[in-house]
Amino acid sequence: EEVDVGAFVDRITSKFQTIARDNNIELKSHIEKEGIMFSLDPDKIEQVLTNLIDNAIRYTHENGKITVTQSVVKGGITISVEDDGTGIPEEDLPFVFERFYKADKARTRGRAGTGLGLAIAKNIVNAHQGQLTVASKLGEGTTFTLFLPNRQ
Ligand code: ATP
Ligand code: MG
Repeated sequence: EEVDVGAFVDRITSKFQTIARDNNIELKSHIEKEGIMFSLDPDKIEQVLTNLIDNAIRYTHENGKITVTQSVVKGGITISVEDDGTGIPEEDLPFVFERFYKADKARTRGRAGTGLGLAIAKNIVNAHQGQLTVASKLGEGTTFTLFLPNRQ
């Protein structure tokens, strides 16, 4: 399905404005170029973004900041979710996409979920020939980046 990907990202981000505000978190979307039409499965990609934004809110401290950025890159698009929250220890990064991985409770304020969200997200992205990657620094923040290729 062809969607206006900037509008799509704005719409999903805005669903989280209330919960972000309730947690004193500033949530912004940044669409680098408006009006880009892109072929994707809206329900599935919404599920991926929902988990990434939900995580960012859950694992970000009060007064934190989250930015959802949509860009056009060579061969496709990227949508990234950047937070300035707890971060993930470097030694744990290879495991975040595994089922039931959860960081220790001390860092996540006891609000961790089932540990399935990222495993499901990764499966969806792989099924779309895309890539889901993470960069993080403990105590500084985390960025998850979703790359989706142009339809072949
Ligand atoms: P679920 O999504 O199934 O409700 P979950 O959020 O615990 O549960 P995942 O979304 O798979 O599961 O995330 C796995 C773990 O990775 C989390 O429990 C958390 O420890 C860590 N994590 C994920 N996103 C972030 C983030 N943005 N900042 C810090 N840690 C994160
Ligand atoms: Mg999650």
